[in-house]
Amino acid sequence: MEAIPVGVRDRFAAAVRFHELTPADRRDSRKDGATKVVFRTPDDHLIESVILRIQSGRSSLCVSSQTGCVGGCRFCATGRIKGGRNLTSAEVLDQVVRVGEILAAEGRRLRNVVLMGMGEPLLNEDVVCSALAALRGHDGFNLSGRHLLVSTLGIPDAIRRLAAKFPQVGLAVSLHSARQTVRDDLMPLARRWPLGELRQAILDANTLQDRTVMIEVLMLDGVTDTETDQAALIEWLTGLRVHVNLIPFNPVGDVALDGVRLRASHSVRIQSMLEALKAASFTTTRRRSLGSDIGAACGQLAGDQSEQSQPA
Ligand code: SAH
Ligand code: SF4
Repeated sequence: MEAIPVGVRDRFAAAVRFHELTPADRRDSRKDGATKVVFRTPDDHLIESVILRIQSGRSSLCVSSQTGCVGGCRFCATGRIKGGRNLTSAEVLDQVVRVGEILAAEGRRLRNVVLMGMGEPLLNEDVVCSALAALRGHDGFNLSGRHLLVSTLGIPDAIRRLAAKFPQVGLAVSLHSARQTVRDDLMPLARRWPLGELRQAILDANTLQDRTVMIEVLMLDGVTDTETDQAALIEWLTGLRVHVNLIPFNPVGDVALDGVRLRASHSVRIQSMLEALKAASFTTTRRRSLGSDIGAACGQLAGDQSEQSQPA
């Protein structure tokens, strides 16, 4: 504003829209330093961003790419929101701007941005690509490509395009099950892209990128955590340059699959999966989801409509 003559500053500020989003709510976790910020879009959709204060001074931000998701995954609160739409790049980037202001006031710096909030980023590919370019660019947010990550339900052609355009940006693929029928049941939209095609896309990303792909596996009791699942996963992953992230299931109300309620895996089963994968030489970690007490953990983001939404 200093470049604008004093006399016209008010008129200038009134004419230029500096922000696309209006903060609507903020909830701070009492447990782990996560903060959920709810924003309102100009057409009255509510979207959520989550601040993860992981190390002192350096923070991560999980941003949304859509106001709902047609993925319809049985385990995910965002997948229950009807009538969603793609966010614009201004809306994606304004989450980063607004949260950057919150963090700056705390003397913290934003280090990582993960597109893992509401929505399927690769169904909003052009916007996501232009937002990534702005986040990484020297005349934009100046974040390192290595500190950006896009999580997808697994759309093969879009994975290849993203890997070619952004060799340093991380890709995370929500595999969850290497068994086709189980994956089909859990992730209705993903049926369009069978596991063989997805595997080929990850192989291609491996040659296009100079970093490993993250494979996300949601740990569901008796559904994705059995010995059969371990064997199927190891076979499917063999030959890929990946690291595996096991995600404990966060509750999103009552959800059933074939009449059986989806439940989190017992810690012992997660440990067993972790050890089996490590024994097969895959780098494997267990995700610590922050913000579960404020509905901000993975899968719980619902633009604060979670109370109204119906279980699938
Ligand atoms: N649409 C993208 C990104 C948003 S979801 C995708 O599906 O990858 C981000 C991650 O949260 C995904 O790995 C998703 O499978 C996971 N997730 C969804 N619901 C969850 C739940 N109830 N508990 C734990 N993780 C969940
Ligand atoms: Fe959409 Fe991802 Fe949720 Fe599936 S897990 S419904 S793809 S946001």
